Amino acid sequence: MTTPDPHTLAVHAGRHDLTALGVHAAPIDLSSTSPLPDVEAGGDAYEQLAGGGRPGEGQSHVYQRLWNPTVARFEDALAELEHTDEAVAFASGMAAVSATLLACVAAGKPHVVAVRPLYGGTDHLLGTGMLGTEVTWATPEEVAGAITDRTGLVVCESPGNPTLDLVDLAAVVEAAGEAPVLVDNTFATPILQNPADLGVDLVLHSLTKAIGGHGDLLGGAVACSSEWATRLRQVRAVTGGLLAPQVAYLAHRGLQTLAVRVETATRTAQEVAAWLDGHEAVAEVLYPGLATGEDAEIVARQMRGPGSMLAFRLQGGYEAASRTASATQMIVHAVSLGGVDTLVQHPAALTHRPVPADARPAADVLRLSVGLESASDIIADLEQSLAQTA
Ligand SMILES: *Cc1c(COP(=O)(O)O)cnc(C)c1O
Repeated sequence: MTTPDPHTLAVHAGRHDLTALGVHAAPIDLSSTSPLPDVEAGGDAYEQLAGGGRPGEGQSHVYQRLWNPTVARFEDALAELEHTDEAVAFASGMAAVSATLLACVAAGKPHVVAVRPLYGGTDHLLGTGMLGTEVTWATPEEVAGAITDRTGLVVCESPGNPTLDLVDLAAVVEAAGEAPVLVDNTFATPILQNPADLGVDLVLHSLTKAIGGHGDLLGGAVACSSEWATRLRQVRAVTGGLLAPQVAYLAHRGLQTLAVRVETATRTAQEVAAWLDGHEAVAEVLYPGLATGEDAEIVARQMRGPGSMLAFRLQGGYEAASRTASATQMIVHAVSLGGVDTLVQHPAALTHRPVPADARPAADVLRLSVGLESASDIIADLEQSLAQTA
């Protein structure tokens, strides 16, 4: 049974065999090694899995770095939600980014065209070139002209971290031509946006954020074609940036409530954004739900809702931003996002600190990840903390 409805998918994806197995919750397989039937069959399985293949029916999994059924179950669920053939999960979002870059370098295509803003860690990794990549920073309009025959990847985020910039994903796919496109879909989640439907090759998630959803795990994943999944599993088998099975279980459980969490937090974020927009201490609210003109058209075309992330600029500049972040009482002053509780942080000082000064978010910007508390309590806390800046 397949259904395109994300609510139903979120609950049932990756669980279609549970009734036949006679269980209701997904089993967790913790085996670090697996019995081998004989030397020859074991060797064949090793070769197949270390090359990035999936195990055949009844074949040994050999070793957890090569294959784990609990991780694979989560991967299959995420692939269903992202409308891709497969997905490959990693120890963190940055391990997923690293594996993708290494796959490009290994294929002799080390050139990356990247559209800012990106998550600070991704920007940092590309900027250092420490994995052997060479980056060309481009606006969406500059992507086509930046592609060379050595380009292995075009990278962008929409909405972008931290200022919620919107990128027309179909236009980037067209501009990239033959070059594969990776979209970091962490902010939108598969509930609000499916980049693969627009021709995007690689859809990346930090599971640490909305998919885990409770601020208690680190993980990453790439949803993609079977061909890409094979390449990424090969990199994962060789370099070892694995998602642990216990964490895969939690991420898979997180998917079951993802739709209701995202939709509730989105409704609240719309209220909070509108309230901030009318506040005298706030210079500007950056939120897809308040987008106008071409940006509003992008939101309408490629998203099913504006999401739970927003940023806002303070009239009082850095001083006011820093005082507001420190003055919240219920809202937690912390990096990360997409969890059940509302978090606020100062991107220029924290998540985007490694970004070169000319590309760093402005010092008057705060990023807010809206959680599941009531809009009125979130607004009351923002009101008292903004009052400290007057
Ligand atoms: C957090 C984040 C990452 C990195 O994920 P980790 O799980 O922290 O390694 C990548 N992209 C975006 C958009 C993020 O918010």
